[in-house]
Amino acid sequence: MNGKIGVTTDNIFPVIKKFLYSDHEIFLRELVSNAVDATQKLKTLTSVGEYKGELGELQVEIKIDKEKGLLTISDRGVGMTAEEIEKYINQIAFSGATEFLDKYKDDANAIIGHFGLGFYSAFMVANQVEIFTKSYTGADAQHWSCDGSPEYLLENIDREERGTDIVLHIDDENKEFLEDSRIETLLKKYCKFLPVAVAFGKKKEWKDGKEVETGEPNIINNVNPAWTRKPADLKEEDYSAFYRELYPYAEDPLFHIHLNVDYPFNLTGILYFPKLHEHIQLEKNKIQLYCNQVYVTDQVEGIVPEYLTLLHGVIDSPDIPLNVSRSYLQSDQNVKKISSHITKKVADKLAEIFKNDRAQFEQKWDDLKIFIVFGMLTDEKFYEKAKDFALYKNIDGKYFTFDEYKTLIESEQTDKDGNLVCLYAHNADEQHVYIEAARAKGYDVLLMDGQLDSHWLGQAEQKREKIRFVRVDSDVVDKLISKKDEKKQTLKDDERNALSSVFQAAMPKIDKTEFMVSVEEFGEEQSPAILTQNEFMRRMKEMAENGGGQQMMFYGQMPDSYQMVLNGNHRIVKEILEAEKADCEPKLKPVVDEMDSADKRKTELRKKKEEDRSAEERDELLKLENRINELGEQKKAIFADFVAANPKIAQITDIALLSAGLLKGKALADFVKRSYDLI
Ligand code: ADP
Ligand code: MG
Repeated sequence: MNGKIGVTTDNIFPVIKKFLYSDHEIFLRELVSNAVDATQKLKTLTSVGEYKGELGELQVEIKIDKEKGLLTISDRGVGMTAEEIEKYINQIAFSGATEFLDKYKDDANAIIGHFGLGFYSAFMVANQVEIFTKSYTGADAQHWSCDGSPEYLLENIDREERGTDIVLHIDDENKEFLEDSRIETLLKKYCKFLPVAVAFGKKKEWKDGKEVETGEPNIINNVNPAWTRKPADLKEEDYSAFYRELYPYAEDPLFHIHLNVDYPFNLTGILYFPKLHEHIQLEKNKIQLYCNQVYVTDQVEGIVPEYLTLLHGVIDSPDIPLNVSRSYLQSDQNVKKISSHITKKVADKLAEIFKNDRAQFEQKWDDLKIFIVFGMLTDEKFYEKAKDFALYKNIDGKYFTFDEYKTLIESEQTDKDGNLVCLYAHNADEQHVYIEAARAKGYDVLLMDGQLDSHWLGQAEQKREKIRFVRVDSDVVDKLISKKDEKKQTLKDDERNALSSVFQAAMPKIDKTEFMVSVEEFGEEQSPAILTQNEFMRRMKEMAENGGGQQMMFYGQMPDSYQMVLNGNHRIVKEILEAEKADCEPKLKPVVDEMDSADKRKTELRKKKEEDRSAEERDELLKLENRINELGEQKKAIFADFVAANPKIAQITDIALLSAGLLKGKALADFVKRSYDLI
């Protein structure tokens, strides 16, 4: 008999080819899953007693006939009667699976197809598709053939064997699907965990240095993957073995979560926390998404929150619509529920380990941290749960929850306004000098060396009241946490100014870097000078570097600004001040005197409005300004000469730069040479 396929448009195939699936290769997934569905249906019918015949070997088989250009998918499942072909194949989008599921809701082995379009994906790679089938009911066997036009052929044939062969005549553009290696790769990708054995060719063996075929079928899949089994039936080894099956080359994971939900949606799977490395971008998208054990994709964005894309493992849900666009996925209610369920499960599991096995949790924290911090920063719900088990690590390698840490440092590290000040370093080696200074003062220092830590501490400051994070090198130790009684100052203003001028003259010229000098009075035992970088400016610049948008650009263009803080109580600084008085003051006196009187005269002249000034007055003003500039340069020169004659000044400056990691190249070599000279 001849007939017309039941679609309204005259020819649906161009549509299927172009728009339905972007990836041609998925035809194999669709046809193999139909074969699996047919097999599962037969098992269901047997179990409810509707089919009483022999089942026989139920595996699905894939064969290639390269010469004839044929790819065949065979199964020993339920087969189809002429009426069923009419209904399920000819009526596109009228899916037999949906109807079957409705009828056998509770018994049906999981049925993959429920879209009614999978079969036609065969036309993406074939110019003719044939079906040879015999139904388990014993009805006449059928042959169906179609060349991609809406015309088809349907006829009775002789065939005893129950089940279906789908034969594709692969077209010229898709010859790749006649290559053994290509098909094997695809089967391994899509069919690795199908619930019915899938055979492709014969198993191979090494014999006398050659690879030879054995008599045994080459089974592609593991029909019983770990995630489909009950958690109670699985041991730790089973989870590790399954991880290895998924990622043969990966390091052992930290731990796993077995998902097993059947209400209000269906979801199974095993998620693993992997050991993450430097670059989280590269580590994403290792989760594989399955639909009833058929591989669908490893692009899980939109299905799980972004930070969860860092996990590894498998998610299997028949409730995720698969053959539709990503934007649709993201707005799908089921997908949203699944996503928040996974978040909850992950947070609960972490909380459980934290509570029951703190030692293990701490041991794994360094690896878990980036994942948890990423989650806290991007997912409000996750933050709410994680804030109680997220750990802060201090320089000694001890771990604290925020509340524990607060208790630890509260008494020493609360400033005069009642803010809790948490000190941190981002590099224990580079900031060693600053860390030691803070610890000598009885402060504790956290190590914040993670990729996301600057954002994380920013979040903590925002979410919690009255706490601040301050990097150890952002100020001199006495000022990191400002306490009530500031010590009284003994140096006079002009002494301070003199010291500042001297050291300003000693500061190096570094591109896009500026140094300010100030004088404080600390204990005599503290360093004579220390270099600090303002916390606020540094954070702004860091954010600008990480692409903080328009507003941040401004900070990005600012020079790096450091504060050189002198300790006015230090012996050497005092000596330098005395020497400055003896050496510079006499030289400075005439310069400064002239400057003062010039300034005075200038102010006087400036009092008159510009248009009221005489020509002579205007001329005088111009000369005065030039002279003041000259005198300024002379002043600088006097300080520069003084610095040149007193190597200790450069030495102190360089030691401060060195402690902050800023002494490099020639400056470093000069420092080394000068150090020997001084010895
Ligand atoms: P779906 O699988 O979503 O139902 P398909 O287009 O893949 O849609 O298949 C349509 C229908 O054709 C199936 O539901 C099934 O009834 C029938 N069918 C396809 N392949 C086979 C097969 N190998 N054995 C038995 N029936 C099949
Ligand atoms: Mg299907």
